[in-house]
Amino acid sequence: MTVPCVRVPASAGEETRQALVEAGVVDHGHDIVADDGVLFIPVTDPTGVPAEYEVVDRDVPTRRQQRTPADILGFEPSYERLGDIVILDEDDPERAREIADAVRDSDVRAKTVVNRASKIRGELRVRDWDVLSGSVPDGPSGGSETESRPRTETVHREYGYEFLLDISTVYFSPRLATERHRVVEQVEPGERVFDMFAGVGPFAVPFADAGADVVAADLNEAAVEYLRENASRNGVSERLTAIQGDVREVGREYENWADRIVMNLPHSAGEFLDTAVAVAGDDCVIHYYDIQHEDDPFGPGERAIRAAAAPEYEVTVLNERVVRSYAPHEYNVCLDVRLSR
Ligand code: SAM
Repeated sequence: MTVPCVRVPASAGEETRQALVEAGVVDHGHDIVADDGVLFIPVTDPTGVPAEYEVVDRDVPTRRQQRTPADILGFEPSYERLGDIVILDEDDPERAREIADAVRDSDVRAKTVVNRASKIRGELRVRDWDVLSGSVPDGPSGGSETESRPRTETVHREYGYEFLLDISTVYFSPRLATERHRVVEQVEPGERVFDMFAGVGPFAVPFADAGADVVAADLNEAAVEYLRENASRNGVSERLTAIQGDVREVGREYENWADRIVMNLPHSAGEFLDTAVAVAGDDCVIHYYDIQHEDDPFGPGERAIRAAAAPEYEVTVLNERVVRSYAPHEYNVCLDVRLSR
């Protein structure tokens, strides 16, 4: 079927399109067609086209609407994005498979769809995943020409930084982006910052970019490899020292060193307070993450910090913050405290 189109030389295409947008006559339901140096821009109302343009009737393709998974499924699935991975949290494997198929057949740009297959566990804080669909093409070669990277590896972008990571070997939660940014904004150039549980670097990399000298430790070898890669990707390798190991050991090399410490290991940060106090300099801010019952979300953390810091330091609580709700009646919280010798 033909539709009215403005015909212009391709060289005048963008300027004409703008003029037609301003006139309110661009037909967004059809595609612009280029033919031998000439553009055909579909319009909704030829009478509204400014007089200097030529209008012709022309066969142009109907624009395909973006298809969402919900269009295919008939219900709105819930999922989370991490780079080009789509993450589901479905108990029913059949429903998970149905959603994964819909994501694959939709216009959502995803390399892989995964479903959570276990809770986060162990010291390294990783979980198992069911990989439901990946980018391996169904061609006769069986996908031998595909990339060699794991399907669970992706590049995630947060506040302008790039983080390469593999969700099957490291911890990463995009939900903490705002909280991390809140802390990053407090960092001053020249500060010495110790990130005790650094993961792939979502605190440490922006700290270094803010001008701090950063030491970032993690027990997980894979996380530290990604952390180094991410420091390099974001151009901060010179100010970031990534160390693989138990922070209780690593901390011995940095006693009385830090102006700021991040302790993002919420279930067991309390066990590492002696290390934090040893690493703290004369005046040091600690960002202490905890998971506690809603009845007293900050009390246990504050008491533990005061006990560990006494008698050497005076402790001032600067800020008490609920980061997110973690489970029924339980909060993930952060205490910002100042230790002054
Ligand atoms: N801060 C990172 C983030 O926001 O993505 C990672 C936080 S994750 C909750 C905790 C990290 O602590 C994990 O990467 C884990 O490997 C690391 N970890 C656990 N025990 C540790 C220890 N004793 N010493 C150093 N790192 C440890």
